[in-house]
Amino acid sequence: MMRYCRDVGMQPLYAIKLIMNEIKIFCPATIANLSCGFDVLGLCLETAGDEMIIRKSDKKGVRITKIVGADLPLETEKNVAGVAALAMLDAVETEFGFEIEIYKNIKAGSGIGSSAASSAGAVFGINELLGQPFTRKELVLFAMQGEKLASGNAHADNVAPALLGGFTLVRSSSPLDIVKIQSPSELYATVVHPQIELKTSDARSVLKQTVSLKSAITQWGNVGGLIAGLYTQDYELIGRSLHDEIVEPLRSVLIPGFDLIKKTAYENGALGSGISGSGPSIFALSKGKETAEKIGKAMSAIYDEMNLPYEVHVSKVNDEGMKIIAP
Ligand code: ADP
Repeated sequence: MMRYCRDVGMQPLYAIKLIMNEIKIFCPATIANLSCGFDVLGLCLETAGDEMIIRKSDKKGVRITKIVGADLPLETEKNVAGVAALAMLDAVETEFGFEIEIYKNIKAGSGIGSSAASSAGAVFGINELLGQPFTRKELVLFAMQGEKLASGNAHADNVAPALLGGFTLVRSSSPLDIVKIQSPSELYATVVHPQIELKTSDARSVLKQTVSLKSAITQWGNVGGLIAGLYTQDYELIGRSLHDEIVEPLRSVLIPGFDLIKKTAYENGALGSGISGSGPSIFALSKGKETAEKIGKAMSAIYDEMNLPYEVHVSKVNDEGMKIIAP
């Protein structure tokens, strides 16, 4: 009991009361890795995401009562939303429980944080009903338990931007140390999701366990450059830093048309382009909505030509993260 509190050095909370009975929230999609920032960087999207309704129940515990838009398990322990919520309720003592309805728009396995939207959404929603006993940063730890169910690994690179908004850096996952990074207001993301199945486990299995010192130096130079570029609103520096010579060369072969999509993104004004999360989605960052939309059209034309079904999202960086839609 209360082990998650100890992990983050929090005091367990007792006899917490409700301030609302029901809440409807928007749970944003996220792009993890961002080329050079494998497993540490992520950003939050504004125009792609799920919705959830969370309400108080007189019965203790957590129940998933409805899932619309995806074929996912209703059993609490098999759904990332249920697991994350249980981890949180391990840290607060309440006389009641919660029911969760999930309205999925983000396809599972798309590489834009489908499981993270549900893990983070469940703990955000319950925290709001309880009058915010935890900060958004503290909620990351509970949400990570949902991610552990989805991928076997309690990673924070999608749940941190989903909860905090904007760009986030996981400086350390144990002990957890998350930093929100400022970003320029005109930064847009374009994401194309080719509708093929690419399991996270397969995308992980192609990775090597060691890297050369030369590649490591290039990579941490780029991570530093990207962070500096975001803070100083230096779009050119952001572009120069969006490179990945460690993971992308191994993973990109699993994604149809990757090289062509990336080349086209650059030709249409992208600052940089790479694999979103573990794929198969491909992202591009650009300055301004017009360029982001142009890139989206050019990417679509390639998959149209290849006769491959796809989805495209064009979104400003969402600085707010999870938000309440109702009441
Ligand atoms: P993405 O690549 O888009 O981030 P993930 O691969 O992280 O998606 O997560 C998808 C996995 O998590 C699938 O195996 C799916 O069955 C499982 N899962 C369990 N509950 C949920 C949920 N509420 N939302 C999305 N995926 C879930």
